[in-house]
Amino acid sequence: MILMKTTRTLLIMLTAFAALSFGKPEKAPDNKSTEKFKYLTEQFADAKILRYQVPGFETLSLKQKELIYYLSQAALSGRDIAYDQNFKSNLLIRKTLEAIYQDYKGDRKSAEFAKFVVYLKRVWFCNGIHHHYSTDKFLPEFSKEYFSVLITKTKKASLPLAPGQTTDQFLAELTPLIFSPDVAPKRVSLDPKSDLVLNSASNFYEGLTQKDAEDFYANMKKEARKNKQDTMIAFGLNSKLVRESGKIVEKTYKIGGLYSPALSQVVFWLEKAQAVAETPEQHLVIEKLIAYYRSGNLTTWDEYNIAWVKDLNSLVDFVNGFIEVYGDPMAMKGSWESIVNFKDVEATRRTEILSKNAQFFEDNSPVAPEFKKKKVKGVTAKVIIVAQLGGESDPTTPIGINLPNANWIRKDYGSKSVTMDNITYAYDQAAAGNGFLEEFAWSKEEVERSRKSGHLAGNLTTDLHECLGHGSGQLKRGVTADSLKNYHSTIEEARADLFALYYIKDQALVKFGLVPDDEVAKAEYDSYIRNGLMTQLVRIHPGKTIEEAHMRDRALIARWVYEKGMDRKIIEKVTREGKTFFRINDYDGLRAEFGELLKIIQQITSEGDYKAAKNLVEIYAVQIDPELHKEVLQRYAKLNIAPYAGFINPVYTLVKEGNTITDVKIEYPDDFATQMMTYSKKYSFLPVR
Ligand code: ZN
Repeated sequence: MILMKTTRTLLIMLTAFAALSFGKPEKAPDNKSTEKFKYLTEQFADAKILRYQVPGFETLSLKQKELIYYLSQAALSGRDIAYDQNFKSNLLIRKTLEAIYQDYKGDRKSAEFAKFVVYLKRVWFCNGIHHHYSTDKFLPEFSKEYFSVLITKTKKASLPLAPGQTTDQFLAELTPLIFSPDVAPKRVSLDPKSDLVLNSASNFYEGLTQKDAEDFYANMKKEARKNKQDTMIAFGLNSKLVRESGKIVEKTYKIGGLYSPALSQVVFWLEKAQAVAETPEQHLVIEKLIAYYRSGNLTTWDEYNIAWVKDLNSLVDFVNGFIEVYGDPMAMKGSWESIVNFKDVEATRRTEILSKNAQFFEDNSPVAPEFKKKKVKGVTAKVIIVAQLGGESDPTTPIGINLPNANWIRKDYGSKSVTMDNITYAYDQAAAGNGFLEEFAWSKEEVERSRKSGHLAGNLTTDLHECLGHGSGQLKRGVTADSLKNYHSTIEEARADLFALYYIKDQALVKFGLVPDDEVAKAEYDSYIRNGLMTQLVRIHPGKTIEEAHMRDRALIARWVYEKGMDRKIIEKVTREGKTFFRINDYDGLRAEFGELLKIIQQITSEGDYKAAKNLVEIYAVQIDPELHKEVLQRYAKLNIAPYAGFINPVYTLVKEGNTITDVKIEYPDDFATQMMTYSKKYSFLPVR
């Protein structure tokens, strides 16, 4: 599970001043440079591009630096996979746009060409032609006619034409893919009234319906049970389901299977990484991962995950694989991603306290006793410094992860949870003083509180969500994680959020020395309610509903507590100069409401109660009051802030004397397009058709 990139973007915008954080010294990411590091490099459409620094990289040992270098190469080698999984024509489109960008011989200074460049940047930003967050197809602002000019004035040899294809035929193939709103309009459809598979453009199923896919896996599970095979594996995680001469076949992502050229490269670099592994445990992790990419065997994937959970002493760590299932409307297929990182020893103190006391939190939660874990195992948590993002985690990235996703591994072996400190730091720095907080906060007091305690509140909420929230609770016997189907992600995120919201106001946190006072919890409640009831709506176009799981989760929670506490005015809707605000009158009352909802949501999860999940989500999390939406969008537009952020990665280079590696150099480039073009040149391993 991930704490989405965008989960906290808005919260972070509210915590404009990052400097005052309790118990942790202010980070000085770049000690050597006296000039200010440029975090925000550019804005286009609804996106902004940020850079992040990798503090402490220089102090790592040569072996650790080398390890990061090899793992970062492995992370970049799978880049094309993410594009292809998102939509089967993404690579064809991207290559075409890049050829134009590189070779177009017409006027490159015109307003039309600038619009073309924005479209290409959006494709890079989203790993394809669908918005990374809403999953809606976005359309270019230039015309079809101009597109044909671009194509004809670009060297034919650099365009990805099919064998024997004329330029006209090529144009006829590409134009509807790019310009027609009816071709592949949505990457992930979650509309329960329609066929989820048929209505999703993501490239996990071809030539079949939702029912076909459901039957296929139901059968496969039945067969596995009958033949006494491993039934705990994540069925379907690393494959595409296609119809071939009337039969449904699973095409596995592996060397020798689907995505073989890219995965071979990933393995090439993993083998180099294995040779400089820090510990025997880490050596085993890499060995298992390589074996899995070779065989595609999901039992080996589980073995890899178990080995990964047990590798606690390596400073450098990474994820690399087909992991999160948000891209599949059926929540089965994993999108390829990689994140390379190392531990921030100092900042990890905070999460160590939480994980050491995991049982205390489990025992004292408001959840019904039968749904609590008797023994919470191995909730390890750490704060990490990200060194490289890859695949679906690049350029937009989560700010926290909690893996593995398999419930039984989490229960028997525990999980690893991380907060990406240098990423949130970059967000904070880029957001300082953009006016967002002042516009939507009800009072000066709220603004002050956010400035003083917001950064810590945000980090602590992420920690609680990731270290404890997702790992808490247990399922009833016979209930599996997929029982809630299309509502699973929303309910799961709500469960983790509620756990965090409930505990951030617990006196135990003061006792553990994690917070100085109650102000931290208040700051979190202020921003959570503001976000859930109002400010997150800035991400949605007028007339649309809320679809993304984390946004639904936040709407669900905020609206539920608002409604339940209405008679007691726990949260009050107030207006000033025609503007709407939500003011919290009773913070303790609000905490009790969070606890109440946590109890309900845990029961739904534990019992796999699809109907109850559907009810809650459809009533509270989907629809938007059009009046309020309009107002929020208008107020937001005046601030001129791009709501989504993507990142430029640092560049690592081996320093050699003869054949001996003597150091690994790190540099921070500042041009997004250059980085994307470099990646496309160096790491394109998949065919476009
Ligand atoms: Zn989460």
